[in-house]
This record gives sequence, structure tokens and C-alpha cells, in this order.
Amino acid sequence: MASLAKTDQRRRKSAPGSRPAPAGPRVFHNFVAGQWGPAISQETFANVNPADTRDIIGTFPRSGAADVDRAVRSAQRGFDRWRRTPAPGRGDVLRRVGDILVRRKDELADIMTREMGKPLAETRGDVQEGIDTAYYAATMGRQLFGHTVPSELRAKWAMSFRRPIGVCGIITPFNFPLAIPTWKMFPALVCGNACVFKPAEDVPHTATMLVEIFLEAGLPPDVMQLVHGDAEAGAAIVAHPDIPVVSFTGSTETGRRIGEVCGRMHKRLSLEMGGKNAQIVLDDADLDLALEGVLWGAFGTTGQRCTATSRLILHQGIHDGFLERLTDRVQALRLGDGRREGTDVGPLIHAAARAKVEEYVEVAQHEGAHLVTGGRRATSGALAHGFFFQPTIFAGVQARSRLEQEEIFGPVLSVIRVASLDEAITVNNDVAYGLSSSLYTRDVNASFRALTDLDTGITYVNAPTIGAEAHLPFGGVKQTGNGHREGGWQVYDFYSETKVGYVDFSGTLQRAQIDTYLGTPD
Ligand code: NAD
Repeated sequence: MASLAKTDQRRRKSAPGSRPAPAGPRVFHNFVAGQWGPAISQETFANVNPADTRDIIGTFPRSGAADVDRAVRSAQRGFDRWRRTPAPGRGDVLRRVGDILVRRKDELADIMTREMGKPLAETRGDVQEGIDTAYYAATMGRQLFGHTVPSELRAKWAMSFRRPIGVCGIITPFNFPLAIPTWKMFPALVCGNACVFKPAEDVPHTATMLVEIFLEAGLPPDVMQLVHGDAEAGAAIVAHPDIPVVSFTGSTETGRRIGEVCGRMHKRLSLEMGGKNAQIVLDDADLDLALEGVLWGAFGTTGQRCTATSRLILHQGIHDGFLERLTDRVQALRLGDGRREGTDVGPLIHAAARAKVEEYVEVAQHEGAHLVTGGRRATSGALAHGFFFQPTIFAGVQARSRLEQEEIFGPVLSVIRVASLDEAITVNNDVAYGLSSSLYTRDVNASFRALTDLDTGITYVNAPTIGAEAHLPFGGVKQTGNGHREGGWQVYDFYSETKVGYVDFSGTLQRAQIDTYLGTPD
């Protein structure tokens, strides 16, 4: 499936291009060097509603390397000032950002649903994640701890403390348009860095609002640069010699390309990438609970979450009955515009995403999986102008088949039958990714076995594969990540450099490892 994963072969909701902006739609801008304005090239792209492509949200600058360079120059000036602002003061700005997000929550949720499709309950949750991250970051302004430890020499202090690093390149995906940028930029800013922010081209309106909110909260303008655009702008950020830190969330294929460049340039890089998450249901589980879990995990955000439940591993003892109940519930899910009351599942993000799902349906049938429900575009009535796809279940999926191994990023669930917890753990672990996993059981020993042995960055017991909390570290192993974490206390290590200070007040030359106290106590 390599061809499907290639970013340069993808088609976005609308092809960015050099054609002039149509007369009607609202015109949006970059925020560079303290001002809102177009790309230097004047190129634009249109952003449309995936639930109804006749609804054009606006045109946005299609930025290139020259825009990124201008942004970096300004961010360097911003960094020089911001790094000297005391960290509690930096935290205060983030607290005000949180307050504004609370006030504008519904407005933001509506904008987000309009441009990426997930139902309003989910986009409100997305904003809430930003709010939680802001208040957590605000407190971290007073907690950027270092260590003070005893020196091995007399009359000498030894300590470590944090320093900001510089201009951070922030490249984000479409599926959490507000939460993911906040996971990156809030800690980056509290640590004293400046940001050049390149949001996904599918969700530029939410990103614009977030930058407006930073400014309203009192962030000095040079500290935040917003550069809209596609892979070209992202690649320019990655390759810019004066951006020492890059944080990326997106597909594994794009992350690999970014990693190659950053490796050559010795940049600090955080990668959060794809997933192929499984929910395991054992034969002693609370099946009602497990049923609610898989519905939410597999079809929430139309399956377009990095933590989406893409595989359902069922113990043979409950397989048939569970699958039957699940099928009934999936067939009752209501597809539609996420801004409409009662919608359970919104559209896919763009035509290419839907084409990719369709290709996997063909792959599944070729591999002999049994189509239980769905499997086709949904185009009737109000769905005719959006990128809708029926919630789909395949049963009889074989471990190590492509359907079972590859990230689809759509409303497609693969069901695998197993005979034991051991087999379930083997199936779960035998994929390239390792973000999230879930086990439903009433057996405490099985729970701890799963926590210990499932090869993922997150394991949920009796809860679906989705649902991370902002104050805990978030991230995956294997092809999902490169060892860093977002969220919680751990992300602050990524955005700060550890420096060590020694102060010798003995008045004599004391040589470390030579003039030690050892053997000479007095
Ligand atoms: P994507 O990789 O297509 O794009 C992500 C971002 O990278 C966008 O802003 C895009 O413009 C930019 N980009 C594309 N090519 C680039 C290049 N060559 N250099 C620099 N930047 C480039 O991903 P997407 O379709 O927006 O998001 C879906 C993917 O994101 C899925 O694979 C999903 O699993 C992953 N994801 C992972 C996590 C996580 O935390 N692990 C969270 C959300 C999404």
C-alpha cells in the first residue's frame, strides 16, 4: 500500500493552486512578523466543508520557503525577548488563553466541525482538551523544575536547570485541529521558545482562531508565527537551519521524511505518527460495556483518530454473539453533518481519504475477509455532497493480512477471532505501530498482564482505545513515535534544554574525581 501513503500523491479537500481566489469566499491570512497578510507569492488554496463541498469556508495563503524564512526571522526576535520573560509570567499568558478558550468554546467547536466534519460533541471535547492543556501549562510556569544534588566535593553546589531552545517548528494534522497544536505550542511557549506554526491545510480556520486567541491573551506578536500551506511549507520549516526543534504529528510516511532531514541537520525532533489500535474482549468481560467501547473507539471521528480502534480481537467464546449485537448497533449509527443534532458519524476529511478507504475494502475482499456491514460510500439525500462512507465491519480477518496490519484511517473495523489472552496479545503486538490498546475483562490478573505485555504507549482496561487526558504523557512505540511524549510533565523535557551549573565556594582548586572526600571525612 506504499503508493497510498505517499503524501505527494494525496489529494486534499481541494487542490491548492495558483489560481486566483474566487470572488465570494472569505480571505484569510498568515500571521508573520506581527502582521496578518498573504503569502509572498500571493498563492492561495480553498478550504471546503467535507460534509458539503458546496460550502466554501474561505481561501488561505499557500506559503512557501520565503514565507517560512520571514517567519523565522521574526520568531528569532520574539524568542530573544520571550526567553527573558519569567516563566510564571509566560504561564499567565497561557492561563488567559485557557480563559478565552472557555469563553469561545462553542464558536470554535462550530468552526472546527464545519471544516473537518466530526460532530459538535467531539469538537467541543477537542476545545476542552486545549483548555485543560492551557491550565496545566499555566501551572508549569511555576514548576519548571531542575535538580539540586549534593556535590562530591566540599563547599560546592551542583544543580541542573532548564533553558529554552529557540524557534520551534510546529507541524500538525487535521484530526484534532485545536488540541494537537495546543499539546505542542503551550509547553513550547511556557518553556520560553517561539513558534512557527504550520497547521494541516484541511483545518486552517481553527488554527487562525487559535492564533487570534494567543494575541488576545497578550502573547507578544513575534513569538507566534502562523504559516498556512501544504507539504511545501512544512518541508521548508523542517529544512530551515534556524529552527532547531521540530514537533510533528501526522502520518508515518511524512514523519519518516521529516526524520531523515532532521537527522542530517541534528535537530531535536518529536514524531507522533500512525496507529493500528486493537480492542481485545475476553470471554469474562462486561459485554455491554465492551460494546459501547468499540462503537466509540472505532467510529468516533469517523475512525480518523490516531488512537481509533481499527481491530477488534474477540475471544472465540463470545465472538458470534458479540459480533451480531455490534452489527445491529453499527447499522443504527446516523451519518450526517456534524453540526446537525443527532449525527453520530461525520464525513471523511477529503476525497482522497474516502478513496483510500474504498481501496482497503477491495483489499479486504481480495484477502477473503467477510464484509458484515457497510463497505460503500453513503450518498443518499443530504449526504450527496460530502465525503461520507458507511461504517464498515469485516469479520474473519486474518492476522498479518494487509487489512489487519495497515492504517486505514476511516470507519472500518476488522474483527479477529482468538482462542486465548496469549493469542490476543500476540495479534495485538504483531503490527508495525504501537500507540494504544484496550482490554475488556473482569480478571485482575489479565488486566495487569495486558498492561505489562501489550506493546503500545497507552493501554486502557475496560475503556476504549481513545480518551487520553491532557496531564498524562501521550505517545506511541515502534513506528508510531520516536521516543518522545506529548502531554503531561514529560513534554516539558522536549521543549527545554537541561543545563548544569556548579558553584565552588571553597576558595581552592578542587579537582572532580581526584580530590574527592572519599576516605577523608572530618
Ligand atoms: P499528514 O502526514 O498528511 O500531514 C500532517 C501535516 O504534515 C500537515 O500539516 C501536512 O501539511 C504536513 N506535511 C505533509 N508533508 C510534509 C512534508 N514533506 N514535510 C513537512 N510537513 C509535511 O497527516 P494527516 O493526514 O493530516 O493526519 C493523519 C495522520 O496523522 C494519521 O496517520 C494519524 O495516525 C496521524 N496522527 C497521529 C497522532 C499521534 O499522536 N500519534 C495524532 C493524530 C494524527
